[in-house]
Amino acid sequence: MATVEYKNIGKSFGAFTIMRDISFLIEDHQFVVLLGPSGCGKTTLLRMTAGLETVTAGDLMIGGRRVNDVHPRDRDIAMVFQNYALYPTMKVYENIAFSLEVAKLPPAEIKKRVERAAEILNLTPYLQRYPKELSGGQRQRVAMGRAMVREAAVFLFDEPLSNLDAKLRAHMRTEIRQLHNRLKTTTIYVTHDQIEAMTMADKIVVMRAGKIEQIGTPDDVYDRPASKYVADFIGSSAINFLTGVVVSDNGAPAVDTKAGKVRISTSHAVEPGRRVVIGMRPTDVTVDEAGGIAARSLLIERMGHDAQLCCDGPEGQFLAIVDKSARFAEGQEVRFAIAPEKVHVFDAETENRL
Ligand code: ATP
Repeated sequence: MATVEYKNIGKSFGAFTIMRDISFLIEDHQFVVLLGPSGCGKTTLLRMTAGLETVTAGDLMIGGRRVNDVHPRDRDIAMVFQNYALYPTMKVYENIAFSLEVAKLPPAEIKKRVERAAEILNLTPYLQRYPKELSGGQRQRVAMGRAMVREAAVFLFDEPLSNLDAKLRAHMRTEIRQLHNRLKTTTIYVTHDQIEAMTMADKIVVMRAGKIEQIGTPDDVYDRPASKYVADFIGSSAINFLTGVVVSDNGAPAVDTKAGKVRISTSHAVEPGRRVVIGMRPTDVTVDEAGGIAARSLLIERMGHDAQLCCDGPEGQFLAIVDKSARFAEGQEVRFAIAPEKVHVFDAETENRL
Protein backbone atom coordinates (compact mmCIF):
# COMPACT_ATOMS: atom_id res chain seq x y z
CA MET A 1 0.00 0.00 0.00
CA ALA A 2 1.13 3.50 -0.68
CA THR A 3 0.64 7.24 -0.62
CA VAL A 4 0.01 9.14 -3.85
CA GLU A 5 1.22 12.71 -4.12
CA TYR A 6 0.59 15.26 -6.86
CA LYS A 7 3.18 18.05 -6.86
CA ASN A 8 2.31 20.99 -9.12
CA ILE A 9 0.95 18.64 -11.77
CA GLY A 10 0.04 20.15 -15.12
CA LYS A 11 -1.25 18.71 -18.37
CA SER A 12 -1.13 20.05 -21.89
CA PHE A 13 -2.29 18.46 -25.11
CA GLY A 14 -0.02 20.19 -27.62
CA ALA A 15 -0.42 23.94 -27.09
CA PHE A 16 -3.64 23.46 -25.13
CA THR A 17 -3.23 23.41 -21.35
CA ILE A 18 -6.12 21.71 -19.54
CA MET A 19 -4.65 21.43 -16.04
CA ARG A 20 -2.33 23.56 -13.94
CA ASP A 21 -0.67 23.29 -10.58
CA ILE A 22 -2.55 20.38 -9.06
CA SER A 23 -1.04 19.61 -5.64
CA PHE A 24 -2.39 17.30 -2.97
CA LEU A 25 -1.51 14.23 -0.98
CA ILE A 26 -3.47 10.98 -0.74
CA GLU A 27 -2.53 9.15 2.41
CA ASP A 28 -1.97 5.44 2.69
CA HIS A 29 -5.30 3.51 3.00
CA GLN A 30 -7.36 6.55 1.99
CA PHE A 31 -10.36 6.37 -0.34
CA VAL A 32 -10.26 9.59 -2.34
CA VAL A 33 -12.90 10.62 -4.87
CA LEU A 34 -12.10 13.01 -7.73
CA LEU A 35 -15.44 14.75 -8.33
CA GLY A 36 -16.52 17.22 -10.96
CA PRO A 37 -18.61 17.77 -14.07
CA SER A 38 -17.74 16.46 -17.49
CA GLY A 39 -14.57 18.01 -18.86
CA CYS A 40 -13.09 19.17 -15.52
CA GLY A 41 -10.04 16.91 -15.94
CA LYS A 42 -10.69 14.15 -13.41
CA THR A 43 -10.25 11.28 -15.89
CA THR A 44 -7.08 12.82 -17.27
CA LEU A 45 -5.65 13.09 -13.74
CA LEU A 46 -6.51 9.44 -13.07
CA ARG A 47 -5.01 8.34 -16.41
CA MET A 48 -1.82 10.26 -15.62
CA THR A 49 -1.68 8.41 -12.29
CA ALA A 50 -2.05 5.12 -14.15
CA GLY A 51 0.61 6.06 -16.68
CA LEU A 52 -1.85 6.01 -19.60
CA GLU A 53 -1.29 9.75 -20.17
CA THR A 54 1.99 11.62 -19.90
CA VAL A 55 2.51 14.16 -17.12
CA THR A 56 3.59 17.41 -18.78
CA ALA A 57 4.47 19.39 -15.60
CA GLY A 58 5.23 18.61 -11.96
CA ASP A 59 6.02 15.42 -10.09
CA LEU A 60 3.77 12.44 -9.58
CA MET A 61 4.78 10.34 -6.59
CA ILE A 62 3.47 6.87 -5.73
CA GLY A 63 4.79 5.39 -2.48
CA GLY A 64 7.33 8.21 -2.28
CA ARG A 65 8.81 7.34 -5.70
CA ARG A 66 8.62 9.72 -8.67
CA VAL A 67 6.80 7.78 -11.36
CA ASN A 68 6.38 10.35 -14.16
CA ASP A 69 8.46 8.21 -16.48
CA VAL A 70 7.69 4.79 -15.03
CA HIS A 71 5.78 2.33 -17.26
CA PRO A 72 2.16 1.65 -16.13
CA ARG A 73 3.09 -1.98 -15.46
CA ASP A 74 5.74 -0.94 -12.97
CA ARG A 75 3.70 1.61 -10.99
CA ASP A 76 2.09 -0.94 -8.66
CA ILE A 77 -1.42 0.20 -9.55
CA ALA A 78 -4.55 -1.63 -10.72
CA MET A 79 -7.31 0.11 -12.62
CA VAL A 80 -11.03 -0.61 -13.00
CA PHE A 81 -12.62 1.01 -16.05
CA GLN A 82 -16.14 2.21 -16.74
CA ASN A 83 -16.72 -0.39 -19.47
CA TYR A 84 -15.11 -3.21 -17.38
CA ALA A 85 -13.07 -4.29 -20.45
CA LEU A 86 -13.60 -8.01 -19.76
CA TYR A 87 -12.40 -10.55 -22.32
CA PRO A 88 -15.63 -11.97 -23.80
CA THR A 89 -14.09 -15.28 -24.87
CA MET A 90 -12.67 -16.04 -21.44
CA LYS A 91 -14.56 -17.39 -18.48
CA VAL A 92 -14.70 -15.42 -15.23
CA TYR A 93 -11.84 -17.43 -13.72
CA GLU A 94 -9.62 -16.79 -16.74
CA ASN A 95 -10.53 -13.10 -16.82
CA ILE A 96 -9.49 -12.71 -13.20
CA ALA A 97 -6.37 -14.84 -13.61
CA PHE A 98 -5.19 -13.25 -16.87
CA SER A 99 -2.77 -10.62 -15.54
CA LEU A 100 -1.22 -13.15 -13.14
CA GLU A 101 -0.66 -15.59 -15.98
CA VAL A 102 0.98 -12.87 -18.06
CA ALA A 103 3.19 -12.16 -15.04
CA LYS A 104 4.02 -15.91 -14.96
CA LEU A 105 3.04 -16.52 -11.36
CA PRO A 106 3.06 -20.17 -10.25
CA PRO A 107 -0.31 -21.85 -11.05
CA ALA A 108 -0.97 -22.67 -7.38
CA GLU A 109 -0.51 -19.01 -6.42
CA ILE A 110 -2.82 -17.91 -9.25
CA LYS A 111 -5.50 -20.34 -8.12
CA LYS A 112 -5.20 -19.17 -4.53
CA ARG A 113 -5.54 -15.50 -5.43
CA VAL A 114 -8.44 -15.98 -7.87
CA GLU A 115 -10.38 -18.11 -5.40
CA ARG A 116 -9.81 -15.64 -2.60
CA ALA A 117 -10.95 -12.71 -4.74
CA ALA A 118 -13.98 -14.68 -5.93
CA GLU A 119 -14.90 -15.45 -2.36
CA ILE A 120 -14.62 -11.83 -1.21
CA LEU A 121 -16.62 -10.63 -4.22
CA ASN A 122 -19.26 -13.41 -4.05
CA LEU A 123 -18.22 -14.68 -7.47
CA THR A 124 -17.40 -18.29 -6.56
CA PRO A 125 -20.55 -19.73 -8.23
CA TYR A 126 -19.81 -17.84 -11.45
CA LEU A 127 -16.16 -18.69 -12.10
CA GLN A 128 -17.00 -20.98 -15.03
CA ARG A 129 -19.36 -18.55 -16.76
CA TYR A 130 -18.61 -16.19 -19.62
CA PRO A 131 -19.06 -12.42 -19.12
CA LYS A 132 -22.16 -12.39 -21.33
CA GLU A 133 -23.82 -14.81 -18.89
CA LEU A 134 -23.48 -12.32 -16.00
CA SER A 135 -25.51 -9.34 -14.82
CA GLY A 136 -24.02 -5.84 -14.94
CA GLY A 137 -23.22 -5.92 -11.23
CA GLN A 138 -21.52 -9.31 -11.51
CA ARG A 139 -19.42 -8.09 -14.45
CA GLN A 140 -18.46 -5.08 -12.38
CA ARG A 141 -17.33 -7.42 -9.62
CA VAL A 142 -15.23 -9.45 -12.07
CA ALA A 143 -13.53 -6.22 -13.13
CA MET A 144 -12.80 -5.52 -9.46
CA GLY A 145 -11.55 -9.08 -9.00
CA ARG A 146 -9.05 -8.57 -11.80
CA ALA A 147 -7.72 -5.49 -10.03
CA MET A 148 -7.71 -7.17 -6.62
CA VAL A 149 -5.64 -10.24 -7.52
CA ARG A 150 -2.77 -8.07 -8.63
CA GLU A 151 -2.39 -6.98 -4.99
CA ALA A 152 -1.40 -3.53 -6.20
CA ALA A 153 -0.52 -0.66 -3.86
CA VAL A 154 -3.16 1.65 -5.35
CA PHE A 155 -6.58 1.00 -6.93
CA LEU A 156 -7.84 3.40 -9.59
CA PHE A 157 -11.54 3.46 -10.50
CA ASP A 158 -12.82 5.39 -13.52
CA GLU A 159 -16.60 5.91 -13.17
CA PRO A 160 -17.06 2.17 -12.59
CA LEU A 161 -20.79 2.34 -11.84
CA SER A 162 -22.10 4.59 -14.58
CA ASN A 163 -23.36 1.71 -16.74
CA LEU A 164 -25.53 0.28 -13.97
CA ASP A 165 -29.13 1.11 -13.10
CA ALA A 166 -29.83 3.26 -10.03
CA LYS A 167 -30.58 0.41 -7.63
CA LEU A 168 -27.54 -1.63 -8.59
CA ARG A 169 -25.38 1.49 -8.39
CA ALA A 170 -26.45 2.04 -4.81
CA HIS A 171 -25.72 -1.61 -4.02
CA MET A 172 -22.29 -1.58 -5.69
CA ARG A 173 -21.36 1.62 -3.84
CA THR A 174 -21.76 -0.26 -0.59
CA GLU A 175 -19.84 -3.26 -1.94
CA ILE A 176 -16.89 -1.20 -3.13
CA ARG A 177 -16.72 0.67 0.15
CA GLN A 178 -16.95 -2.57 2.15
CA LEU A 179 -14.20 -4.04 0.00
CA HIS A 180 -12.07 -1.03 0.81
CA ASN A 181 -12.77 -1.36 4.52
CA ARG A 182 -11.53 -4.91 4.25
CA LEU A 183 -8.49 -4.51 1.98
CA LYS A 184 -7.62 -0.90 2.92
CA THR A 185 -5.83 -0.39 -0.39
CA THR A 186 -5.27 3.29 -1.23
CA THR A 187 -8.01 4.12 -3.74
CA ILE A 188 -8.64 6.93 -6.21
CA TYR A 189 -12.14 6.94 -7.62
CA VAL A 190 -13.38 9.24 -10.40
CA THR A 191 -17.04 10.20 -10.68
CA HIS A 192 -19.35 13.07 -11.59
CA ASP A 193 -21.96 11.69 -9.17
CA GLN A 194 -21.92 13.63 -5.92
CA ILE A 195 -23.87 10.90 -4.10
CA GLU A 196 -21.14 8.38 -4.89
CA ALA A 197 -18.57 10.85 -3.63
CA MET A 198 -20.48 11.66 -0.45
CA THR A 199 -21.21 8.04 0.43
CA MET A 200 -17.84 6.48 -0.36
CA ALA A 201 -15.03 8.97 0.12
CA ASP A 202 -12.76 9.61 3.05
CA LYS A 203 -11.75 12.73 1.16
CA ILE A 204 -13.36 14.44 -1.83
CA VAL A 205 -11.37 16.49 -4.34
CA VAL A 206 -13.84 18.79 -6.11
CA MET A 207 -12.46 19.80 -9.50
CA ARG A 208 -13.43 22.62 -11.84
CA ALA A 209 -11.92 23.34 -15.24
CA GLY A 210 -8.58 21.65 -14.54
CA LYS A 211 -8.19 23.06 -11.02
CA ILE A 212 -9.01 21.98 -7.49
CA GLU A 213 -11.93 23.91 -6.02
CA GLN A 214 -11.95 22.22 -2.59
CA ILE A 215 -10.48 19.21 -0.81
CA GLY A 216 -12.24 17.92 2.26
CA THR A 217 -14.25 15.20 3.94
CA PRO A 218 -17.84 14.74 2.75
CA ASP A 219 -18.97 16.77 5.79
CA ASP A 220 -16.51 19.56 4.99
CA VAL A 221 -17.72 20.03 1.43
CA TYR A 222 -21.38 19.79 2.43
CA ASP A 223 -21.32 21.90 5.59
CA ARG A 224 -18.58 24.37 4.62
CA PRO A 225 -18.45 24.59 0.82
CA ALA A 226 -15.46 26.73 -0.18
CA SER A 227 -17.34 28.37 -3.05
CA LYS A 228 -20.74 28.78 -4.63
CA TYR A 229 -19.65 26.21 -7.22
CA VAL A 230 -19.04 23.53 -4.56
CA ALA A 231 -22.29 24.40 -2.75
CA ASP A 232 -24.14 23.99 -6.02
CA PHE A 233 -22.45 20.72 -6.97
CA ILE A 234 -22.89 18.95 -3.64
CA GLY A 235 -26.32 18.06 -2.28
CA SER A 236 -29.19 15.93 -3.57
CA SER A 237 -31.70 18.79 -3.84
CA ALA A 238 -30.26 21.87 -5.53
CA ILE A 239 -29.24 24.56 -3.05
CA ASN A 240 -31.13 27.90 -3.23
CA PHE A 241 -29.11 31.03 -3.96
CA LEU A 242 -30.17 34.64 -3.39
CA THR A 243 -28.07 37.73 -3.99
CA GLY A 244 -28.21 40.71 -1.65
CA VAL A 245 -26.41 43.27 0.44
CA VAL A 246 -25.21 42.84 4.01
CA VAL A 247 -27.19 45.00 6.47
CA SER A 248 -27.66 45.25 10.20
CA ASP A 249 -30.99 43.86 11.39
CA ASN A 250 -31.49 45.16 14.96
CA GLY A 251 -27.77 44.83 15.48
CA ALA A 252 -27.47 41.35 13.97
CA PRO A 253 -25.90 40.73 10.55
CA ALA A 254 -28.41 39.97 7.79
CA VAL A 255 -28.59 39.95 4.01
CA ASP A 256 -31.24 42.04 2.31
CA THR A 257 -32.46 40.06 -0.71
CA LYS A 258 -35.41 40.43 -3.08
CA ALA A 259 -37.11 37.62 -1.15
CA GLY A 260 -36.66 39.37 2.22
CA LYS A 261 -34.10 39.83 4.96
CA VAL A 262 -32.15 36.73 5.97
CA ARG A 263 -30.09 36.72 9.16
CA ILE A 264 -26.62 35.21 8.90
CA SER A 265 -24.17 33.96 11.48
CA THR A 266 -21.86 36.49 13.12
CA SER A 267 -18.95 34.21 12.24
CA HIS A 268 -18.81 35.46 8.62
CA ALA A 269 -16.25 38.13 7.86
CA VAL A 270 -18.66 40.59 6.25
CA GLU A 271 -19.24 44.30 6.68
CA PRO A 272 -22.52 46.16 5.95
CA GLY A 273 -22.84 47.19 2.32
CA ARG A 274 -21.00 44.18 0.92
CA ARG A 275 -22.67 42.37 -1.99
CA VAL A 276 -22.99 38.67 -1.32
CA VAL A 277 -24.73 35.52 -2.49
CA ILE A 278 -26.34 33.41 0.19
CA GLY A 279 -26.90 29.67 -0.19
CA MET A 280 -29.66 27.81 1.65
CA ARG A 281 -30.12 24.06 1.40
CA PRO A 282 -33.72 22.89 0.85
CA THR A 283 -33.34 20.68 3.94
CA ASP A 284 -32.38 23.70 6.09
CA VAL A 285 -35.31 26.02 5.28
CA THR A 286 -38.59 25.58 7.11
CA VAL A 287 -42.05 26.85 6.29
CA ASP A 288 -42.75 29.58 8.86
CA GLU A 289 -45.37 32.36 8.67
CA ALA A 290 -43.00 34.70 10.49
CA GLY A 291 -40.05 33.77 8.22
CA GLY A 292 -38.12 36.42 6.34
CA ILE A 293 -38.05 34.71 2.92
CA ALA A 294 -41.09 34.88 0.64
CA ALA A 295 -41.75 32.78 -2.49
CA ARG A 296 -44.78 31.48 -4.42
CA SER A 297 -45.69 27.82 -4.38
CA LEU A 298 -45.58 26.08 -7.79
CA LEU A 299 -45.94 22.40 -7.04
CA ILE A 300 -45.13 19.75 -4.51
CA GLU A 301 -43.21 16.60 -5.44
CA ARG A 302 -43.90 13.65 -3.16
CA MET A 303 -40.81 11.58 -2.51
CA GLY A 304 -42.19 8.91 -0.18
CA HIS A 305 -40.72 9.82 3.21
CA ASP A 306 -41.05 13.58 2.61
CA ALA A 307 -41.84 16.03 -0.17
CA GLN A 308 -40.10 18.75 -2.12
CA LEU A 309 -41.92 22.05 -2.39
CA CYS A 310 -40.94 23.88 -5.58
CA CYS A 311 -41.52 27.61 -5.44
CA ASP A 312 -41.00 30.57 -7.68
CA GLY A 313 -38.64 32.96 -5.91
CA PRO A 314 -37.36 36.33 -7.05
CA GLU A 315 -34.27 34.72 -8.56
CA GLY A 316 -35.95 31.62 -9.97
CA GLN A 317 -36.68 28.27 -8.41
CA PHE A 318 -36.67 28.02 -4.61
CA LEU A 319 -36.85 24.53 -3.10
CA ALA A 320 -37.74 23.32 0.37
CA ILE A 321 -38.07 19.83 1.81
CA VAL A 322 -41.37 19.75 3.69
CA ASP A 323 -43.54 17.27 5.52
CA LYS A 324 -45.31 14.97 3.07
CA SER A 325 -48.70 15.90 4.55
CA ALA A 326 -48.18 19.61 3.73
CA ARG A 327 -50.60 21.18 1.21
CA PHE A 328 -50.02 24.40 -0.75
CA ALA A 329 -52.19 25.95 -3.42
CA GLU A 330 -50.48 26.90 -6.67
CA GLY A 331 -49.50 30.56 -6.53
CA GLN A 332 -49.90 30.79 -2.74
CA GLU A 333 -47.29 32.89 -0.94
CA VAL A 334 -45.16 30.73 1.34
CA ARG A 335 -42.75 32.18 3.89
CA PHE A 336 -39.60 30.40 4.98
CA ALA A 337 -37.19 30.70 7.89
CA ILE A 338 -33.65 29.39 8.27
CA ALA A 339 -31.28 29.31 11.24
CA PRO A 340 -28.51 31.93 10.69
CA GLU A 341 -25.74 29.34 11.09
CA LYS A 342 -27.22 27.29 8.21
CA VAL A 343 -26.89 30.15 5.72
CA HIS A 344 -23.80 29.89 3.49
CA VAL A 345 -22.37 33.26 2.53
CA PHE A 346 -20.28 33.85 -0.62
CA ASP A 347 -18.74 36.98 -2.07
CA ALA A 348 -20.89 38.14 -5.01
CA GLU A 349 -17.84 38.76 -7.21
CA THR A 350 -15.37 35.97 -6.40
CA GLU A 351 -18.10 33.51 -5.32
CA ASN A 352 -15.76 32.29 -2.56
CA ARG A 353 -17.02 31.55 0.94
CA LEU A 354 -16.79 34.43 3.40
P1 ATP B 1 -15.72 13.19 -18.37
O1 ATP B 1 -16.47 12.93 -17.12
O2 ATP B 1 -16.59 13.69 -19.48
O3 ATP B 1 -14.79 12.09 -18.78
P2 ATP B 1 -13.47 14.57 -17.21
O4 ATP B 1 -13.67 15.50 -16.07
O5 ATP B 1 -12.95 13.25 -16.86
O6 ATP B 1 -14.78 14.46 -18.06
P3 ATP B 1 -11.27 14.75 -19.02
O7 ATP B 1 -11.70 13.59 -19.85
O8 ATP B 1 -10.13 14.55 -18.09
O9 ATP B 1 -12.50 15.32 -18.21
O10 ATP B 1 -10.95 15.97 -19.99
C1 ATP B 1 -10.49 17.22 -19.48
C2 ATP B 1 -10.27 18.18 -20.65
O11 ATP B 1 -9.21 17.72 -21.46
C3 ATP B 1 -11.49 18.32 -21.57
O12 ATP B 1 -11.63 19.69 -21.91
C4 ATP B 1 -11.12 17.48 -22.76
O13 ATP B 1 -11.71 17.99 -23.93
C5 ATP B 1 -9.60 17.63 -22.81
N1 ATP B 1 -8.96 16.44 -23.38
C6 ATP B 1 -9.03 15.18 -22.91
N2 ATP B 1 -8.30 14.34 -23.68
C7 ATP B 1 -7.76 15.10 -24.69
C8 ATP B 1 -6.92 14.83 -25.80
N3 ATP B 1 -6.45 13.59 -26.04
N4 ATP B 1 -6.59 15.86 -26.60
C9 ATP B 1 -7.03 17.11 -26.35
N5 ATP B 1 -7.82 17.44 -25.30
C10 ATP B 1 -8.19 16.45 -24.49
